[in-house]
Amino acid sequence: MVTTRASLHTLGCRLNQAETSILGDGLRRKGFELVEFGQPTDVLVLNTCAVTEDAERTARYLIRKTLKHSPHAFIAVTGCYAQTGIEQLKQQAGIDLIVGHQFKLDLPAYLPAIHELKKRLVPDIHHTKTMARGDFDLPHFAEPDSTRALLKIQDGCSAMCSFCIIPFARGHERSRMFDDILREANSLVAQGYREIVLTGVNIGQYAHGDKDFYALLRRLDQIAGLERLRISSIEPTTVSDELIDLLATSKKLCPYLHIPLQSGDDQILQAMNRRYTIKAYTKLIETALTKIPNLGLGTDLLVGFPGETDTAFRNTVAVATDLPFSYLHVFPYSSRPGTAALRIKQLVPSASVKKRTDLLLDLDRAKRLTFHNKQIGKTISVLFETGTRDSYRFGTTPNFTRVAVTETGDLQNQILPVTITAAADRFTFGHLTASQHTHSAMAVL
Ligand code: SF4
Repeated sequence: MVTTRASLHTLGCRLNQAETSILGDGLRRKGFELVEFGQPTDVLVLNTCAVTEDAERTARYLIRKTLKHSPHAFIAVTGCYAQTGIEQLKQQAGIDLIVGHQFKLDLPAYLPAIHELKKRLVPDIHHTKTMARGDFDLPHFAEPDSTRALLKIQDGCSAMCSFCIIPFARGHERSRMFDDILREANSLVAQGYREIVLTGVNIGQYAHGDKDFYALLRRLDQIAGLERLRISSIEPTTVSDELIDLLATSKKLCPYLHIPLQSGDDQILQAMNRRYTIKAYTKLIETALTKIPNLGLGTDLLVGFPGETDTAFRNTVAVATDLPFSYLHVFPYSSRPGTAALRIKQLVPSASVKKRTDLLLDLDRAKRLTFHNKQIGKTISVLFETGTRDSYRFGTTPNFTRVAVTETGDLQNQILPVTITAAADRFTFGHLTASQHTHSAMAVL
């Protein structure tokens, strides 16, 4: 029997990844055979990002690339770029379906039936400028990735940071119904997933009825059989003392925080419409580090925001150096349509943006190595992923350290104690520790 292939690809954030998983599940239900992205295919679903110009360029390039190896492939585009860049996408040859955010999860229903699949002269468009408001549930469960399951709890953002296109792309913040989240979490545990990662745009703003983010975490923490619960990126203004205390005491919540800083300069933070000062951010991090043992701590930095002087950039370098981040995600600023930052005239020359970005990327490598070196000698639980790479098996610790071991055998989706023996900037090396000797003694870090 001839099968009809579909491949999916995600650009951008973990929330997009979670939504791509849901779309993949929908395609499978429709009868498509999912193939790896990059392989010849009959359908491509591209879940795009609009956070930078580069992400948009990449989307256009991937469409052209797919049509080179699969000229008859039906191309469906969704995500933030499909929402904010629709006019541009309409001009790009070879696109058959454009689906804005409002209708994103209905995309499989807009695809023609398998036997009617053929390229269109003009794309079919499902798009509205008005974005959804109010709480939501999801039509079916996310199909999780290999070992960690991404669980969407929230969408949209109302913070209006002056550089950010997300409020225009995804609309106002809204939360998934409390019971719907619990239903999916229980289902994921029943399917054998050991770790759930909570995703959303601004997850600390979760609110459904009288339940806030803390109440949600408390409830998820009680799910029998769930071994690890991880919070993805969370805004500094939404990290409360009680959340830190829960992270410090819970056996399931991973000791890991990714808290975007964006700039180490108060004036730039103000111009970005970020609602905290460096003093408040630093205090938050110091409290978290004091209370949560072996915390993995990541951040985002935006480089070259208009008006970022040499002094302002030096302030960012100083804060990023002083705080013990385990890694930095560095993004060069690019102007985004409709955002307030467009009104700021003092643009930073692109050569300076590049130089500053490179400097912070060097700092990122140094931070990773320092953090990894601190893990040497510790015995930590590692959740192993599928497959091998360069004859290593890889897994992740609760504090989000990647670990490579040389042991073979069936490690996939197992949580096993590993003693860390060496470090590089991208990951650490270790060996399995005989579990019968170490389980009781092992600090589940
Ligand atoms: S908090 Fe700011 S940067 Fe983050 S999604 Fe909302 S507007 Fe964008």
